[in-house]
Amino acid sequence: MEQLFAPWRIEWVTRDEDADDIEGCPFCVLPDRDADRESLIVARSDRAFVILNNYPYNPGHVMVVPHRHDGDYETLDDAELLDHARLKQRTFAAMREAFDPDGFNAGLNLGESAAGGSIDDHLHTHVVPRWTGDTNFMPVVADTTVIVEAVDETYDRLHEAFAARSGATTTGDDRAVAFSFGE
Ligand SMILES: [Zn+2]
Repeated sequence: MEQLFAPWRIEWVTRDEDADDIEGCPFCVLPDRDADRESLIVARSDRAFVILNNYPYNPGHVMVVPHRHDGDYETLDDAELLDHARLKQRTFAAMREAFDPDGFNAGLNLGESAAGGSIDDHLHTHVVPRWTGDTNFMPVVADTTVIVEAVDETYDRLHEAFAARSGATTTGDDRAVAFSFGE
């Protein structure tokens, strides 16, 4: 049976008990926690960051998120657009090195939940690596432990691949790889 592949329909779910206590917007709170690995933030630029999805449809499913809390893509200024786009470029490159996918899905959910996103007031671009015939690779209903282990391994592989990109700065395996694009 052909399954609809719609990774953006999955709920963003906090990873651990502590994270469930987050008050407010996770995409605002998590980057300020000074716990990048725990928060699954694998790369940062001046105006955006890359965070792994807790319940990936495919290994490597991440979101590239502008820091500013806003749900309206049209209000991003030029510096934010460029920074976000450059970080997406690094994300594709890092994923290609880490996972050797056949292709990618990348997209935004804009507007109320009709568009399928679970956090609709803070922009985020889903980037999902795809392999030929992968729709059943990791069912959403898979055991949580399996998913957490997969996410840990994914973090390590992506972290290493981001660190190898031009302009990357690393300050340890538990800290996001930092990019400065000179804006
Ligand atoms: Zn926010």
